[in-house]
Amino acid sequence: NPAVTLSLRLIPYSDDLWMLVARDVSRLLQLEQMRRDFVANVSHELRTPLTVVHGYLDMLDPDEHPDWAPMLAEMQRQSQRMTQLVEDLLMLSRLESQDSLPAEETVAMAPMIATLRREANALSQGRHEVIVEDTAGVDLWGSNKELHSAFSNLVSNAVRYTPAGGTIRVRFRREDKGAVLEVIDSGYGIPAAHLPRITERFYRVSTSRSRESGGTGLGLSIVKHVLNLHQARLEITSEVGRGSTFSCHFGADRVRPRDEFALSEAL
Ligand code: ADP
Repeated sequence: NPAVTLSLRLIPYSDDLWMLVARDVSRLLQLEQMRRDFVANVSHELRTPLTVVHGYLDMLDPDEHPDWAPMLAEMQRQSQRMTQLVEDLLMLSRLESQDSLPAEETVAMAPMIATLRREANALSQGRHEVIVEDTAGVDLWGSNKELHSAFSNLVSNAVRYTPAGGTIRVRFRREDKGAVLEVIDSGYGIPAAHLPRITERFYRVSTSRSRESGGTGLGLSIVKHVLNLHQARLEITSEVGRGSTFSCHFGADRVRPRDEFALSEAL
């Protein structure tokens, strides 16, 4: 195979000597590709049987079988969860397999933020105070679908990891020449030791709490990949018992003036 990938490292050896270490990482990259393909194929294959199970479950009427009602509800909940897991895995393999966004567009932030507000309220069902601030007055440049999925994951985490009575704040503001979208909660917080690994696939601070809260363990991985594709940076600050802030920092080249006229037409 003529294609060989080398990893090069230059290490200081003495005052006037450097050492160049070359490592052949072709096999490593090949294995990584095989792992990605495997996950993508398995997820894809699981989709059809899941759709069938889901479909038949929906046809069973709990009113006709009152004794089955709790079991049916639980089966529905679990099959929904599995469907979400498969969808998240597919999204993650798609994100991992691309180096750049396939198509870029203006991402209208006023409707995006209105959607995030609706989603936060729907998930919270009145258990939290939801505050949304949009002072940036600009739009972003990138992929609407992907950015929505990233922001939506952050909002869903904020609601799921904040006990009732807490506050969820979504803020979009200017920063230097760029813009930042922040999701701030007054929830459980994340111990500092976990922060470096929190965006890894299936990494969880407390497995039981996360399972109960209904997540797939892939949310922050998706967020990280989406932001990377937008050359944006995810910053996480958190204090146990006080809450967490997830900030998505976008550079100046991702910011577009907001077209107020188009917006008022659309509304
Ligand atoms: P999950 O589906 O488990 O929520 P994520 O990738 O979205 O998966 O998050 C990974 C882990 O990070 C969670 O299991 C939880 O332990 C922690 N976490 C994420 N967001 C928050 C938050 N806002 N507050 C506290 N912990 C959080």
